[in-house]
Amino acid sequence: MQIYNTFTRKKEEFKPLNPPAVSIYMCGPTVYNYFHIGNARSFIMADILRRYLEYRKFDVNFIMNLTDVDDNIIRKSVEEKKSASEVSEFYTRAFFEDIKKLKIKPANAYPKATMHIQEMIDVISDLEKKEIAYEVDGNVFYDISKFPDYGKLSGKKIDDLESGARVEINEEKRNPLDFSLWKKAKEGEPSWDSPWGNGRPGWHIECTAMSTKLLGKSIDIHAGGNDLIFPHHENEIAQSEACFDQKFVKYWIHFGFLNIQNEKMSKSLGNFFTARDVLQKYSAETIRLFFAQTNYGGPLNFSDELLSSASKGCEKISNLVELTENGIRKNSSAGIMPDFDFEKYRNEFIHVMDDDFNTPKAVAVIFDLIHSLNKIIAENENINVSFFHNVKNIITELASEILGIIDLSEQEKESSAALENELIELLITIRDKLKKEKQFALSDQIRDSLSKLGVTLKDTKSGVTFKKN
Ligand SMILES: [Zn+2]
Repeated sequence: MQIYNTFTRKKEEFKPLNPPAVSIYMCGPTVYNYFHIGNARSFIMADILRRYLEYRKFDVNFIMNLTDVDDNIIRKSVEEKKSASEVSEFYTRAFFEDIKKLKIKPANAYPKATMHIQEMIDVISDLEKKEIAYEVDGNVFYDISKFPDYGKLSGKKIDDLESGARVEINEEKRNPLDFSLWKKAKEGEPSWDSPWGNGRPGWHIECTAMSTKLLGKSIDIHAGGNDLIFPHHENEIAQSEACFDQKFVKYWIHFGFLNIQNEKMSKSLGNFFTARDVLQKYSAETIRLFFAQTNYGGPLNFSDELLSSASKGCEKISNLVELTENGIRKNSSAGIMPDFDFEKYRNEFIHVMDDDFNTPKAVAVIFDLIHSLNKIIAENENINVSFFHNVKNIITELASEILGIIDLSEQEKESSAALENELIELLITIRDKLKKEKQFALSDQIRDSLSKLGVTLKDTKSGVTFKKN
């Protein structure tokens, strides 16, 4: 399996540190708002990558942090006249609701920054002992001049960064690029006791402390949006590697930007959509298929036309599943067995996904498969029921379990409702016959028994109809 590593800027053979275990750390949301559709893209693509690794029999430990102390949360709490924890708790609940609606498999843990303050203090103290961190009046900064490799992930050079830096002027910093590890408490802000007095952690130190605590000092995959490469991930490397003297991350995976109608999404342009907004109009499966049609690392343009076309794609999958459910119900093992190479499609799917999770090609394999299967089902009568079971298995595996672009439990509900209706119709036909043969006791028994089950029969001129309560 090949994975594109941002760190080396090339595809590399995927060799986890302790196979079959795979540790993945992904930077999660700052919980001060509903997450937007660009974040949803990262979360969904990470979900597909993770599901695929699990399909390939890796034992994945997937951790996503929640930043629940931060400038944005504090600003929002002032605006809304609430406490910072009320704001973060509200949007944490909203986050869990939304990822569930997007059918994202829950992470193994969602560590919260405020629950790991001591671990952060420990890392900062170690960095201070090594004279990599320095304190100025209750604020602690990371001295980037002490980490010669600074810039190795983003490919930026310290000199270029300094000359181009529009960093806030801060008299306390030795170097304009030094970043905050610990911030001195301000009036009315959440704060914790520390060796440097009351204060709160900087953002970057969270991920170092929590990834180390939950996954160890070296992890297999660190993932996040493209916008986090610099400075966030660069700073995480500087903190972790300076503190623990070992390589922090083996593979860096970054998700591309999402534009709306070819423009950058922004609140001021009025083209800002939350995942919630989009879920009002499109199903989770449609949104997932839309994202899967583009490679996770590249830019993606979001438009209603593209989503509508994804929605038609989902319909094609649903239609095949419906044909399959009917086939399983109505056909027997006496039918003919069409000659069809399911394994060829399965192998092709694995082949393209093994190549840096090429989901656009994987989606194309699924639609090829659907096209061929529809043709066989249309051209043959009396197909062996095993064929339909094979169809169901491959769709379940590739489209449902890995990509999540069809919800079979929904479809099964519909299919069992269809079976129920057919059974009721069958009882109505039998009851008709009984009535014609003047076996009223039995025909009444059918009507009464159905009524007890919540099915009301109604005699009309055009025959008997039924209503389910
Ligand atoms: Zn992070």
